[in-house]
Amino acid sequence: MGVVVVGAGIAGTACAVELTAAGVPVRLLEQAGEVGGRMGGHVVAGRPVDLGAAYFTVRDPDFEQVVRRWEAAGLARPWTTELAVLRSGTRDRAPGPQRWAAPGGLGGLVAELATGLTVELGHEVRRVGPGPVVDGEPADAVVLAMPDPQALRLLGPDHPAAARAAGREWRPAIAVAAGWPAREWADLPAAFVNDHPVLTMIADDGDRRGDRAPVLVAHTTADVARAHEADPDGAIGLVLDALRELLGVHTPPMWTLAHHWPYASPDGTRDEPFHLTADGIGLAGDGWGSPRVETAWRSGHLLGRALVERLRPS
Ligand SMILES: Cc1cc2nc3c(=O)[nH]c(=O)nc-3n(C[C@H](O)[C@H](O)[C@H](O)COP(=O)(O)OP(=O)(O)OC[C@H]3O[C@@H](n4cnc5c(N)ncnc54)[C@H](O)[C@@H]3O)c2cc1C
Repeated sequence: MGVVVVGAGIAGTACAVELTAAGVPVRLLEQAGEVGGRMGGHVVAGRPVDLGAAYFTVRDPDFEQVVRRWEAAGLARPWTTELAVLRSGTRDRAPGPQRWAAPGGLGGLVAELATGLTVELGHEVRRVGPGPVVDGEPADAVVLAMPDPQALRLLGPDHPAAARAAGREWRPAIAVAAGWPAREWADLPAAFVNDHPVLTMIADDGDRRGDRAPVLVAHTTADVARAHEADPDGAIGLVLDALRELLGVHTPPMWTLAHHWPYASPDGTRDEPFHLTADGIGLAGDGWGSPRVETAWRSGHLLGRALVERLRPS
């Protein structure tokens, strides 16, 4: 029967890679038309723009090996170790770990990871029951590699695994990308925005991508995202006003694009890297640890290893 992995973000893809490498048959199902999940973006004005994760960091030695492979292939590049911190009229700098970016977009990194896997795109799973059974089909195990609220929808509230996924709020965000005729802001390259009613983060997309295109991507607060859930474009004016206030960008942009993420990040962290029930239902993703790209990769990777151990003939 094999394992069904639901969700081809970086967590589900890392899990499928691990299982496939051990010879376990895997189906990787993704409801969207492409892999990547919250590492996704759009091509605007002929170039990719990241609308989800702003960058990623690397601590885990196994993840570092994957990142070095991406770097050698020209897919990932070290970006910056210092971000600006903007707060009501003040500007500081926050030194930190190396932040990595992707010249062709972060989604391309997940696509590279998925090389050799068969991903069934446009395949939305609707129900996962005890057994486990995925939309009526039995499987040796099933992995739900996605934010908790999406996993809960599949499990239903009475499933034993649901208790592990419940109990945490997930914050929404709207990412607004905008392009100008010329760069009008001082070097960022990215900024945390603290205590602001509209924005939490601004990234210079041309700087992180390396082509210096005059493009900014700004992430809104959860409150703004909730208020504009049904009409993300309605947040664009607020974001442009905030960019004027924080960065002095007065020229109207040539283009804008808004994307609503209903489950951008969870409130709080968990210590376990994944959860696996006795009947073979696995929960993975950035909800298992602190919400980051690396956490999601590690969660899927470790759950894949645990499943290989469990399914190995004794
Ligand atoms: C605005 C924003 C900014 C961020 N900034 C950063 C950052 O700067 N640094 C950082 O490290 N991280 C950042 N993150 C977090 C990072 O993007 C995530 O931690 C990571 O991408 C999560 O990967 P995942 O595989 O766990 O989940 P996801 O990427 O959400 O993947 C889940 C996948 O499951 C699919 N799916 C869901 N339900 C079903 C179903 N029923 N059937 C089939 N498929 C289904 C979804 O379509 C999706 O592709 C940010 C995220 C957002 C949204």
